[in-house]
Amino acid sequence: MEIDILVSEVGPRDGLQSIERVMPTQDKLDWIRAQFEAGTREIEVGSFVPPKLLPQMADTAEVTRRAAALEGLTVAVLVPNRKGLEHALAAGAHKVSIPFSMSESHSIKNVRKTHAQMLTEIGACIELLASLDARQRPAFEVGLSTAFGCTIEGSVPEDRVVRMAEQVIELGVDEVGLSDTTGYGNPAQLKRLAQGIWSAIGRERMTGVHLHNTRGQGLANVLMAVELGFTTIDSSLGGIGGCPFAPGASGNIVTEDLVFLLESMGLNTGIDLERLFEVRAQVQAALPGEPMYGFVPDAGLPKGFKAH
Ligand code: ZN
Repeated sequence: MEIDILVSEVGPRDGLQSIERVMPTQDKLDWIRAQFEAGTREIEVGSFVPPKLLPQMADTAEVTRRAAALEGLTVAVLVPNRKGLEHALAAGAHKVSIPFSMSESHSIKNVRKTHAQMLTEIGACIELLASLDARQRPAFEVGLSTAFGCTIEGSVPEDRVVRMAEQVIELGVDEVGLSDTTGYGNPAQLKRLAQGIWSAIGRERMTGVHLHNTRGQGLANVLMAVELGFTTIDSSLGGIGGCPFAPGASGNIVTEDLVFLLESMGLNTGIDLERLFEVRAQVQAALPGEPMYGFVPDAGLPKGFKAH
């Protein structure tokens, strides 16, 4: 059966990079395999950042290479710059995203680059990709991060996000993704931003959202995204990682709750919830004591629940 919504698992990257402990490579691979077998078709497995900055991601090359052996799985990775892209290409990633912070102060603080410098870096990535044979070329996406607001700047002007999306597409990027890095977003804002960006670059150039549940608005935003026509939604198993800015608060949308929402609405994700709960238990066992979030795993599936 055809999938209606692609649930892209980002736990091994967004989740694990936000917790202090380092998950052993084999545990990461067991998680990725188990979740693939539960029906997940896209997993962001790591980030090519210097291990000094994020020791949790130091094995990303190996994880990428070995995950790519799972036939039918799209192995996605995050890179901060062209150098990271080179590593991602060498490891055989199928999809590469580079985050581009819509808040310039956030960009300077995180990657020490102004907007102009980031556009130059993205251009350098495009140049490298253009030199490859089409069959070797991974999908390349720019994540419009902090698009809904920033912990340093506060609100981020929507017309700026639209303008940046336009400039990024002009450089030759395949797609941009709309990203609520800080969990500031609400559904009305999501609708305005999506419509503004789509009218500037076309609907086919933005099909995915990355939302956080920091303030409990994650699934409300998902519902708006689905109604607007987004077809890829990022989430993290058990919401692992929480929110680095608010201890005890959930970070990413919880995959289990997301899959339940979609399946109960009759939208096929291809993911088997019962098996997903088993993956959750497996990951929890690999990260003892680490908080895992979500309502559906605790409450259980409704009596007689049938997935789509
Ligand atoms: Zn995130």
